[in-house]
Amino acid sequence: MRIYNTLTHKVEDFVPREAGKVGMYTCGPTVYHFAHIGNLRSYIMEDVLEKYLRFTGLDVKRVMNITDVGHLTSDGDTGDDKMLKGAKREHKTVMEIAKFYTDAFFADCKKLNIKTPDVVVPATTYVDEFIRVISSLIDKGYAYEAGGNIYFDTSKIDNYNVFHNFTEDDLEVGVREGVEEDTNKRNKADFVLWFTKSKFDDQELKWDSPWGVGYPGWHIECSCISMKNLGEYLDLHCGGVDNIFPHHTNEIAQSEAYLGHKWCNYWFHVHHLNTTSGKMSKSKGEFLTVSLLEEKGYDPLVYRFFCLQSHYRKGLVFTWENLDNAKAAYNKLVARIGKLLAEAAGSEADTADVSALEEKFRTAMDDDLNTSNAMTALYDILKADASPAAKIAAVEHIDTVLSLGLVQAAKKTAEPAEDDIPEEIKALAEERAQARKAKDFAKADELRDKIAALGYTVKETRQGTVITKS
Ligand code: AMP
Ligand code: ZN
Repeated sequence: MRIYNTLTHKVEDFVPREAGKVGMYTCGPTVYHFAHIGNLRSYIMEDVLEKYLRFTGLDVKRVMNITDVGHLTSDGDTGDDKMLKGAKREHKTVMEIAKFYTDAFFADCKKLNIKTPDVVVPATTYVDEFIRVISSLIDKGYAYEAGGNIYFDTSKIDNYNVFHNFTEDDLEVGVREGVEEDTNKRNKADFVLWFTKSKFDDQELKWDSPWGVGYPGWHIECSCISMKNLGEYLDLHCGGVDNIFPHHTNEIAQSEAYLGHKWCNYWFHVHHLNTTSGKMSKSKGEFLTVSLLEEKGYDPLVYRFFCLQSHYRKGLVFTWENLDNAKAAYNKLVARIGKLLAEAAGSEADTADVSALEEKFRTAMDDDLNTSNAMTALYDILKADASPAAKIAAVEHIDTVLSLGLVQAAKKTAEPAEDDIPEEIKALAEERAQARKAKDFAKADELRDKIAALGYTVKETRQGTVITKS
């Protein structure tokens, strides 16, 4: 597989360090509010990446943090604590807020068929580890204490601006309108590893440390959670493009200073979902959620379908009209698969045929996760000159990656729901099944005809008796 690496600005062959195995880290949500569908675009595309790596036979271990402490309203080190702001807004404790929105995040993920990573770590459970790594950075001369806080000294490393995607002005992190410059910093780009001088007296979550009671900075969370669970060499690190600077830049600085060698080989960044009026933002307060989509009558998988139609390295504009188009296309696709299912009933797929049908899909995905072309490949499978059973098998297999629930949705629409079948018909079908079991085929046929006369078709499949309206 080839993949765009933000570190080298090139599409490269993806070669894990250890043959057959992939260590993958994902920056998790800051749980002070619901995830908006922009955040979820990132998680959908990362999910597709993980599943495709598995599809190609790689053994992936995926780790994600939950930011329940340390993320301030500026991505630098200033402003209010996002968690505390959320707790104040809802008159709850920070831990109540964290629990509620962590659960809400995973509930949304489930609706979008996003797999839960193998390891999920709330930052508040790793404070000892943060303290251990920060102490080591101080010992190695990469961190200093000033005004009560511990800062990372960016002048101590050769290549801080490792992604080469920001300017000197950007280095004034945290110096934004209405925010005071932090005079404790030796260099503009330095960032906080541990706060004791909280800007807010009522910071709820504080821990004892060698430098006084306080709490960790945001960036150190991801470095420590990754290194502890995936070791000192990481294959792949993911996030949205806004994470490149300062978050991922700082993660690299501190991890490599701590380890004394290169840390992560591939950096995968998903571009933003925007509205017509600009970037979607959680802190702006007004944003689109999965629940809102559901309230408006959209299946969350229609949103997943909408995301997969575009390449992850292109900005995507959300409008209701775009989502309506996706909904119509998704429903049409499901209906086509439903027809194919009926044609394929009872026949076996040839494995060589299935594999040939999947070829275009693999080519698209190997080309920097081109899900847009992969969707075209999916339509090509439906059009191909192959048996319906092979087509269904191919669709089912590639949908282990796309996770659009296509065959399941098709089955649901093709057959009336269990409850739509009258009790009388169900009883006759059961009687017929018993007759077949007793090898009384004459009676079974008689009952089948009786059911047909009442407007229903009964069929025995490997999954059991299926009753459909004729
Ligand atoms: P947060 O919960 O704010 O820490 O963000 C969770 C993830 O969503 C991060 O990987 C962000 O980079 C990503 N993200 C934030 N805004 C957007 C957006 N509008 N579109 C896509 N991804 C986003
Ligand atoms: Zn992170």
